Amino acid sequence: MQEVDIIIKNGLVITIDSNSTIYSKGHLVIDKGVIVEITDDESVLTNYQSKKSIDASSKLIMPGFVNTHTHTGNTIYRGFADDMPLKKWLEEYIFPVESKFCTVETVRLSAQLSIIEMLKGGTTCFSDMYYFEDEVAKVCDEIGMRAELGETLLDFPSPTAPNSDVAIDYTEELITNWNAHELVTIAITPHAPYTCNDDTLVKSKKLAEKYDVPYHMHVSESKYEVQQSLEKHNATPVKHLDDLGLWKDGDFAVHCVHLTEEDRELLKEKGIAVAHNPRSNMKLSSGIAPIQDLINRGILCGMGTDGTASNNNLNMIKEMDTAAMLSKVHTMDPTSLDAKTMVQMGTINGASLLGLDDKIGSLEKGKSADVIIIDLNQAQLIPMYDPYSHIVYSMNGSEVETTIVNGNILMENRQLNTINEEKILTEVKILQEKIKKEF
Ligand SMILES: [Zn+2]
Repeated sequence: MQEVDIIIKNGLVITIDSNSTIYSKGHLVIDKGVIVEITDDESVLTNYQSKKSIDASSKLIMPGFVNTHTHTGNTIYRGFADDMPLKKWLEEYIFPVESKFCTVETVRLSAQLSIIEMLKGGTTCFSDMYYFEDEVAKVCDEIGMRAELGETLLDFPSPTAPNSDVAIDYTEELITNWNAHELVTIAITPHAPYTCNDDTLVKSKKLAEKYDVPYHMHVSESKYEVQQSLEKHNATPVKHLDDLGLWKDGDFAVHCVHLTEEDRELLKEKGIAVAHNPRSNMKLSSGIAPIQDLINRGILCGMGTDGTASNNNLNMIKEMDTAAMLSKVHTMDPTSLDAKTMVQMGTINGASLLGLDDKIGSLEKGKSADVIIIDLNQAQLIPMYDPYSHIVYSMNGSEVETTIVNGNILMENRQLNTINEEKILTEVKILQEKIKKEF
C-alpha cells in the first residue's frame, strides 16, 4: 500500500479536463503536491494510505480559480475613490495616494490581505502587476500561494524605481531571484502603451525574450486611451504595439474594451490572449469588452478581477457571474458566455494565459494539486441540476470550504493555516486610519 499525503473522497468532481469529465462520486489522491489519481473507482483507494483524509460527501471538488489580472498592492485602497472616470481616478486619487503610502511594508500588508481574500474565495493562482513585487513574491512564498508577478513599468517615477530603466533592471533581478521557485513566476509588465514610451516598450520586450517569460499590459481600456494613441501614433494601441513588433504568440492584453475590426484580427493573427475584467470596466464606465466576439474568432480569453481599488473585490465567482450577465445584455443573446464557458475561462483558460496550463487549471493525473472544495449543502445551492450553473450564477464564494495549493492545505473549514488572518485584518485597519487622516 502506497503512502500518500491527501485523499479527498466521495465528492462531485468537476475536472475541467478536455473532455469536461465529471464524477458524481469521485476521489482524488494527492502526493508531494501532485494529483496521482482522479477516479470514481472506489477500489483504487485501497492502493493508498493517506496521512490526511477528507470526506467530500455533499461537496464539490474543482480546480482553484486563476485570476489573470490584479494589483494586490492596492487592496489597501479598496473603496478609497469610487464613482469617477479612469483618468480622474488614476491621476487625482490613486497615483497621489500611492506616492504617499506605497512602501515595501504596505505592499506586503496589502498582498497578505489580498491573498486571504483570494484563498477564501477559491482562487489558487493570480497574476499581479504592481510595485515592490519582490516583497509580493516573499509573501507568496511564506503563505504557499501560486502567482505570476510583474513589476509595473512606467515612464514616470514609481514607488519602486525613479525611471523605467531602473524598473527594468529590478524586473531582471526578480527573474534571477524567483524564476526557479515552485510557485512564483515572473512576467514583464509595462503598465500600458499610454504610460510607457516606445523605448520602454521595446526594451522591456527584449527582456521578456531574453528570459522567455510572459509579457502583458493594459491595452485599449478606455476610449480616451484609443483617441490619444490615434493622435500620437496614428494607430490604435493594439496596432501601435504591432507596429513596434511587440506582439508575440503567448502574450496577453488586459481589458481590450475598445477594439476595431483590424485590432481583433491582429490579436487573432498574432496569438494574443485577452484578460477580461468586466467589473472594473463597468465601474469606471470604460465600456464592454467584446468577449463573445473574440471567442468566436478563436482568441483565448481568461478572467481577471483587476485591483480592488476599481472592483472592489477579488472575487472570481462574482466576476464570472458579471461577465456572463453583461455579455448577454451586450449581445442580446442569452446563449452568450454560458456557465460552462465561464468556468473554463475562470480556470483552465486563465492557466493558459499565464502559460501554466500544463501544471494547473484542471484536475488531471500528473497536474499540481490546486484544488478547492465547496460545501453544496446550503440553501442558495439547493436544488442543483447543473453544477456549472451553480458555480457562476448561485455561489457567492463563501461556500468555498477548503483551498489547496500545490498539495498544501492553505484553508480548511474556512480557517487559514499559513497566515494569521485576524492579525492582518487588524493591521490593515490601523493603516486605513493613517490614510484617512492624510486624504
Ligand atoms: Zn489593471
